[in-house]
Amino acid sequence: MSDSYDLVVIGAGSGGVRAARIAGGYGARVAIVEEYRIGGTCVIRGCVPKKLFVYGARFRDLFEIAPSFGWTVDASFDWPTLLANKDKEIERLEKAYVSGLDGAKVDIIRDRAVLAGPNTVRLGSGRELTAKTILVATGARPFVPDIPGRELGITSNEAFHLAQLPHSILIEGGGYVAVEFATIFAGLGVATSIVYRGEQVLRGFDHDMREGLEAGLQSRGIRLIYQTSIKALRQAGEDIVASFTDGVEAPFGAVMFATGRSPNSAGLGLETVGVGVDGYGAIAVDAYSQTSVPSIYAVGDVTNRAQLTPIAIREGHAFADTVFGDKPTAVDHSLIGTAVFSEPEIATIGLAEHDAATRGDIDVYVARFRPMMNTLSLKSERTIMKLITLKDGGKVLGVHILGPSAGEIVQMAAIAMSMNATKADFDRAVAMHPTAAEELVTFKKPTYVYRDGAKV
Ligand code: NDP
Repeated sequence: MSDSYDLVVIGAGSGGVRAARIAGGYGARVAIVEEYRIGGTCVIRGCVPKKLFVYGARFRDLFEIAPSFGWTVDASFDWPTLLANKDKEIERLEKAYVSGLDGAKVDIIRDRAVLAGPNTVRLGSGRELTAKTILVATGARPFVPDIPGRELGITSNEAFHLAQLPHSILIEGGGYVAVEFATIFAGLGVATSIVYRGEQVLRGFDHDMREGLEAGLQSRGIRLIYQTSIKALRQAGEDIVASFTDGVEAPFGAVMFATGRSPNSAGLGLETVGVGVDGYGAIAVDAYSQTSVPSIYAVGDVTNRAQLTPIAIREGHAFADTVFGDKPTAVDHSLIGTAVFSEPEIATIGLAEHDAATRGDIDVYVARFRPMMNTLSLKSERTIMKLITLKDGGKVLGVHILGPSAGEIVQMAAIAMSMNATKADFDRAVAMHPTAAEELVTFKKPTYVYRDGAKV
């Protein structure tokens, strides 16, 4: 292997792998350096294994309504089976990533890398690589508050490898990871509590989504403890005792921190070469992912633009197009949909009602209904669908769904929104019946409107 490359990528996660493959496809000589497994957070200890666990947990809901369809289910759950099957699938995906890199003739170097100069990367082995361009794609890691006993808690990293399920778990945080893992643990039979410093989970989401999710989590037995935080943890026999800032103490089988993620930027040599970072340690980049050092670029979570895999992939691809494909490409971060794989699921794109209401006169359409699958049972949970448009059939500003397949539905609505669709465009689509998504194209009158900033 030569030590001289057109591109050296540090970090083989979603953004780095995409950039390496596309640059390789343009004929660049590329090396990718990774100290752990190929695939990064999403594939190895994030989106993919998380969603597999969510599927596992959702059987509880299905078993609950199964008798209404005439089924008798005598179910039991085996955690080691789910773990082993998940691990097998992650291995398969990792191999697919490796063969994708091989196909693009990218050298995979399994080592730790630090920047030693604007065109130099030093490996843990002491070997030095030179590169015309360096891409930092080192991702992020769970942030854990600095409290006494923090080492007794786990993060999502460890949650994927627990030898056995705890009898109970306390999850701190009110974001994506907290509600998704609460769904997983509760669905798999663990007594689950969330402690969140705010007033309601998923700060920033549309209020109907937050309320609906709160009710859904509670109806699945998840305890929500608001407006307090963990002050300290201590071991007490097999359990961990959490002391909260409001003075309460309680024991749990496990404690998990889901308190956000920090960019993996420390110890990379950024200061040595003069790459600028923001106040949170995220690498500062321009619209083309170029850092303050012209030969060094950065994409994905380490830049903290939007901590989402598809965004890292886009940024990695756009970087390779810009630098190696002679196609300068800036990623548009203005319209990003996301799904939260809680139970019930949430998906959202565009403006939440509280934001849209500040942008002029808007119409709000809301539907609440029992998913058809539940109608034979006593399960009363409602799907919530909300469409927010400029007034009188104007441009669609936001789509928010809570309920089964929310992510699948909103992904399609995202296409329409990226084309600046109006309510009239939605209305032209013929409904598919009976589906839940048909609600989005059959809204007749706004449920309420905002005029001159006031709800009418
Ligand atoms: P989030 O930023 O979504 O949530 C972090 C939560 O922790 C917030 O509720 C925050 O409170 C709370 N928090 C932060 N610091 C502290 C502290 N010191 N003490 C107590 N509470 C604290 O982070 P996540 O870890 O859940 O997820 C990280 C990112 O990963 C997400 O933002 C998302 O972009 C991505 N992700 C996406 C998923 C998806 O697309 N389905 C799934 C998982 C992750 P407050 O609200 O007050 O700030």
